[in-house]
Amino acid sequence: MITQGGSIPLRLEQVRDRIAEAARRAGRTPDRITLIGVSKTISTAHVQEAVEAGLADLGENRVQEAEEKIPQVRPGPAGLTWHLVGHLQRNKARKAVALFSWIHSVDTAELALRLDRLAAEAGRRLDVLVEVNVADETTKQGIHPARLGQVLETLASLENLRVAGLMAVPPILPEGSPAAASRPHFRRLAALRDSWRSRGYDLPALSMGMSDDFEVAVEEGATHVRVGRAIFGERPPAGAAAG
Ligand SMILES: *Cc1c(COP(=O)(O)O)cnc(C)c1O
Repeated sequence: MITQGGSIPLRLEQVRDRIAEAARRAGRTPDRITLIGVSKTISTAHVQEAVEAGLADLGENRVQEAEEKIPQVRPGPAGLTWHLVGHLQRNKARKAVALFSWIHSVDTAELALRLDRLAAEAGRRLDVLVEVNVADETTKQGIHPARLGQVLETLASLENLRVAGLMAVPPILPEGSPAAASRPHFRRLAALRDSWRSRGYDLPALSMGMSDDFEVAVEEGATHVRVGRAIFGERPPAGAAAG
């Protein structure tokens, strides 16, 4: 449900309440769930409003847009952490390392190696998540579950990246379908995490759930939800915003 009325601070509060309720339903502690406001296509002024209202985590999906926006947004009372939630092309990796603390979209061992080298050069440590293609869509970004082990093994050997966990972007829900349609995908990601955890990989974070289904994601164990429209309102039509 996307509320169009109301101010950004009000919508932010509503999203927070819905996360807290979903957490309680699932017997979870709401303060273990990080709300990332996805600010792609949103003006700096509107992003700043959310930050002043206490939003401490922001996500962008394109390095180029983030490069313009990030220096213009002032950290609020709760600080500010930037997350790259969209696909990362190898030629943008250096900029991404300079701009973001978290990268949710590592999907090849090659990209992991490159990020590690660039993080070392920059004297930084990055938190990364491995993006998994949970629905097996041929057109989607993300690694096939069968190849996840390879990437995790590579990541375990890298000193400048901390592997926080797994991320997924399930298929877009057709108009009017219930949020619960995403549940099997969230379950699949959580089950994958559990299976690799039992093989000795510590993967505490699950980045899953967007405006249309974040409550379901919280019920299924999300630690990071990536919410754009429910906080900032509808974006301009795709085309202008795609990428
Ligand atoms: C845009 C985007 C989101 C947020 O989507 P909304 O439907 O606006 O909540 C989350 N994750 C990724 C990877 C995105 O590109």
